[in-house]
Amino acid sequence: MKRPLIAGNWKMNKDLASARKLAADMVGLLAGVEQVEIAVCPAFVHLQAVAEQIKDSNIALGAQDCYWQGDGAFTGEISAAMLADIGCEYVIIGHSERRHVMGEGDELINWKVCKVLSDGLRPILCVGETLDERERDITEPVVTRHVTAGLLNLSAEEVRRVTIAYEPVWAIGTGKTATPEQANDVHALIRGILAEKFGSDVAAEIRIQYGGSVKPDNVKGLMAQPQIDGALVGGASLKANDFEKIVKYHA
Ligand code: PEP
Repeated sequence: MKRPLIAGNWKMNKDLASARKLAADMVGLLAGVEQVEIAVCPAFVHLQAVAEQIKDSNIALGAQDCYWQGDGAFTGEISAAMLADIGCEYVIIGHSERRHVMGEGDELINWKVCKVLSDGLRPILCVGETLDERERDITEPVVTRHVTAGLLNLSAEEVRRVTIAYEPVWAIGTGKTATPEQANDVHALIRGILAEKFGSDVAAEIRIQYGGSVKPDNVKGLMAQPQIDGALVGGASLKANDFEKIVKYHA
């Protein structure tokens, strides 16, 4: 049975002591939760400390990015194999900040998705339109391109291990959330693309998360939508109590 995945993206926040404490607090608050899969994605330099805190808990470890090649002369980069080695299960790929601040394009993002999969990890592929693209009414072609290009050259078997995060860029860190219906419509579009490319069984299995100012007070409405299978949470995942309320949205 497909369980929703709720993942916290801590972005470039926290020092070592506070990352450790946040992880330890979450372990305590979220113990016993089984209906939802939970992951946290701290900064690279905090991964190992957080891994120690969440060891033997129901919280999985994720990273926020990785490089698309293996060992070699790539100064400053981190490989998927290195992430697997310290206990990561998930890697966020193509986050809007990587696309729009660091200038990553669809081809690079696809290479990263492929590498994450071939090194045994599970990518969370982020897709989503900017405010300008929504206002120009091109959400559909933009999201279609992100999904199609991001999953290029993957087999149905590989795609089963991918999570897609629909994150309208205009809703990330802005306090503006897509309405549950707006989000559901785009999720349905994504599900349709997956069905066309990989078959309806595979499409039904793949988790499509929503991300963009998810908070304790809006999570229930979003998660009630039939096409929404979890959430990628930025700001609200930096506070253990808020993240707990999001994970326990059904309570
Ligand atoms: C994110 O970082 O992926 C995100 C959705 O951030 P926020 O929840 O703060 O909008």
